[in-house]
Amino acid sequence: MAIDLEAPRRPRPGELTFEAPRRGKPPRHVADLTPAQRRAVVAEAGFPAYRAEQVARHYFARLEPDPQRWTDVPVRERAGLAAALTPQLLTAVRELTADGGTTRKTLWRLFDGALVESVLMRYPDRVTMCISSQAGCGMNCPFCATGQAGLTRNLSTAEIVEQVVAGARELAAGEVPGGPGRVSNVVFMGMGEPMANYRAMVAAVRRLTEPLPSGLGMSARGVTVSTVGLAPRIRELAQEGLPVTLAVSLHAPDDELRDTLVPVNNRWRVDEVLDAAWEYAARTRRRVSIEYALIKDVNDQAWRADLLAKRLRGKLVHVNLIPLNPTPGSKWTASRPQDEREFVRRLEAGGIAVTVRDTRGREIDGACGQLAAASPQQAAARG
Ligand code: SAH
Repeated sequence: MAIDLEAPRRPRPGELTFEAPRRGKPPRHVADLTPAQRRAVVAEAGFPAYRAEQVARHYFARLEPDPQRWTDVPVRERAGLAAALTPQLLTAVRELTADGGTTRKTLWRLFDGALVESVLMRYPDRVTMCISSQAGCGMNCPFCATGQAGLTRNLSTAEIVEQVVAGARELAAGEVPGGPGRVSNVVFMGMGEPMANYRAMVAAVRRLTEPLPSGLGMSARGVTVSTVGLAPRIRELAQEGLPVTLAVSLHAPDDELRDTLVPVNNRWRVDEVLDAAWEYAARTRRRVSIEYALIKDVNDQAWRADLLAKRLRGKLVHVNLIPLNPTPGSKWTASRPQDEREFVRRLEAGGIAVTVRDTRGREIDGACGQLAAASPQQAAARG
């Protein structure tokens, strides 16, 4: 992948600083469209409609961004088709690697200057991509780096899909140690609240899971949508016929504490969120994942472990404990090892399946909750 090492754009002298990125729609892209819409767009641009399938094959199956290598398309049509269906949406501003190159975080600039990040993590048996659904986030969870800067805007479907395609290209080209490979898992755990960008998120999941060559051909079981708990959207997702894994960022079993850790809890309480999650599990037969960041002396008490176990007992559920990644300047830190062990022990004693999340990518700020490049100013400061 070509990496643009140019620094994030800084305001010129006299230019208004701190202006919000220009609004407006990202350019339309093949990954935004259904096969029928692609044909219509291609025909409207004056090309034979069947070129739509050829372009989709180059994009999703061959992962070939360069129209000059679309050799089954006449030379004179290549540039026009690329302009109509594969405009450049993401520009790599910076790529950081860790774990011998098997963890890679990319900072992307979007067409309007907004910045988002994605992380590729290669394990012996799988490749997981952690992707962003929004530039910034409006949910305001006080322990999360992304939340500090607020919401810039929703990503388009193609801006979401393109993060995965970019990782797929790196893997196919053998740029990730371990030989050529494929993306097996996608988690919506980068920047943003996917349920607050519901339509684009669902369409992106469809593109990821549609069979090659009209989509990326991934298994829906390999996709995880993580949410703060927008209960009505959880119920809606249960009806989509997309058996993705649902992850609920609970972080506290009681409303009093959750009101402060996940402010949207003031709107949808723990009970309502869990009810929606159980409906999701019942409809999709998928085990729900409960995310719980362990924060020292805040939510890691033994009684909270017991209360959590009680609330989850007998359900199709699994708890994923995440040692808190402290954000810069935060007064909070990760739990003591003995408290973490006791929390795990009590959940297990309560009959709950539990794992502790690995903390890959910490040294490149690529671990959960650390994706914070919400503004060019911030990115420049981190530079
Ligand atoms: N908005 C979605 C997805 C984004 S973050 C959500 O909230 O689920 C993915 C996970 O990382 C969430 O469970 C989130 O609560 C967690 N997280 C955020 N900041 C964190 C931090 N500093 N340490 C550990 N986990 C964090």
